[in-house]
Amino acid sequence: MFFRSGEAMTTPDGLGEMAYLDGRFAPLAETRVSVLDRGFIFGDAVYEVIPVYAGRLFRLGEHLDRLQSSMAAIRIDPPLERTAWVSLLETLIARNGGGRQAVYVQVTRGAAPRDHAFPPQARPTVFAMTRHIVETPTPKPVRAITLEDIRWSRCDIKATSLLPNVLLRQQAVDEGAIDAILLRGGFVTEGAATNVFVVRGDAIVTPPKGHLLLPGITRDLVVELAGENGLRVVEAPVAQAELRAADEVWLTSSMTEVVPVVELDGQPVGGGGPGPVWERVWALFQGYKRRLDDPGG
Ligand code: PLP
Repeated sequence: MFFRSGEAMTTPDGLGEMAYLDGRFAPLAETRVSVLDRGFIFGDAVYEVIPVYAGRLFRLGEHLDRLQSSMAAIRIDPPLERTAWVSLLETLIARNGGGRQAVYVQVTRGAAPRDHAFPPQARPTVFAMTRHIVETPTPKPVRAITLEDIRWSRCDIKATSLLPNVLLRQQAVDEGAIDAILLRGGFVTEGAATNVFVVRGDAIVTPPKGHLLLPGITRDLVVELAGENGLRVVEAPVAQAELRAADEVWLTSSMTEVVPVVELDGQPVGGGGPGPVWERVWALFQGYKRRLDDPGG
């Protein structure tokens, strides 16, 4: 059984939940920003999506570091201190009843008369919402397609201006796939909303970080866990031919964790099912989550 795109890997029951906007908690359905907000007008904003397991924010430090880097890259002065971020997010989760959630945080340059150049006195808009997630015990294998990476050259910034990603992912969806694996100059960058790993023989390979892909929090955790557990991980360019010849292909993201791709552009990947290296890494990932839930256990 494959995931199709309309079928999200998670099930939101988002309505009626509490959101945060500029210092206030209020029901999401009543939360409003100005139409002059530069997030709306220009996509002049950055964001994070942070998974929550058993009411606890997962890899929060890493997500806040990346948010900080994204803000610095687009020259937004941090609107909140680190401790204020933590307290805001923990309050949001608690107000929504804990459990398994996905938190979305967005910082825009603020509302101002429309002009491309930064407004002199912009005050950033800070927005956060969350939704409950229904946990699936094991990820279902997925189909992916390859597409040319049509995005800009600062994909390391987690910016909300995601039109190319939206178009690429929709093309994948239209073709019955979960995501598009993007190629730039014949090399894999990442997925439209995921990072990419391939397995060749005993090596797990993922493209190196740089301006052309998002430094995924899940990607880094997979590299860390695999390395710590004696698996050979190589951060190196992956040519299109290597992708097609791979024994295994995986996609990683905060919301989907590590998902095996079993069909690429209509052709089976490896043996056409989840591979043994994926099974090992998936188990390591689940073990890591369990240890966080029960640090004394
Ligand atoms: N690459 C892109 C383009 C993404 O949008 C995402 C997540 O949304 C990822 C990679 C995975 O990043 P993370 O593991 O931090 O969720």
